[in-house]
Amino acid sequence: MSIPEEDSASGDAAVNGGATDGGQVSGAAPAGNLVYGAASASNLVSFSDAEKVQIFKALMDTIPKFRDEIRIFTPLVSLYSLIRQYSGYSDDSLPCRGGIDFFYVDAKEGNTYPCGYRGKENLGKLYELDIKKLKEKRACRDCDWECFRDPSEQVGYLIEAVRNPVKLIRNKTSEYRRLWNQDLLYFHRCSYFDGRKAR
Ligand code: SF4
Repeated sequence: MSIPEEDSASGDAAVNGGATDGGQVSGAAPAGNLVYGAASASNLVSFSDAEKVQIFKALMDTIPKFRDEIRIFTPLVSLYSLIRQYSGYSDDSLPCRGGIDFFYVDAKEGNTYPCGYRGKENLGKLYELDIKKLKEKRACRDCDWECFRDPSEQVGYLIEAVRNPVKLIRNKTSEYRRLWNQDLLYFHRCSYFDGRKAR
């Protein structure tokens, strides 16, 4: 795995997120912004950027050893991109597609949000939502929430490949492409995580 060891600036910890100014949880989303309480400012789950790099590297080293034993979705290419992102190459990870292709819906009220963390961006009722009319589609990397970041890296690569193949070839390393392909082959072997199949 050829990932630069360059340290990025790191401050106080944020939970699962890119923003590291103390007191925030789940990336850039202050606790009051959350749609639901799925975050904590506890030091147990708060990490500096440098610590995150080590955690993601440990996962990247461990997951391939167990992928034949149990099905592990976590794409290696996502871990690789997050390691790059927190090593000072912030543009190397593809931005999240939360609020663009993926949304969080509050089942009680039927309100739609870009994700569970951007609770101040109520996009309205799901049944009235016209995705084509959404104005703000910002490139968000405020957290590492795997439910959104992992598929964003996988699907985003395909979208970029169609939209701007030259830029993609220039920006993505051969290691990135190798891991992306490796993940896809593994997902195929896992029947794309069809819950009705054992393997
Ligand atoms: S849009 Fe994605 S990256 Fe941004 S806060 Fe939501 S889940 Fe995290």
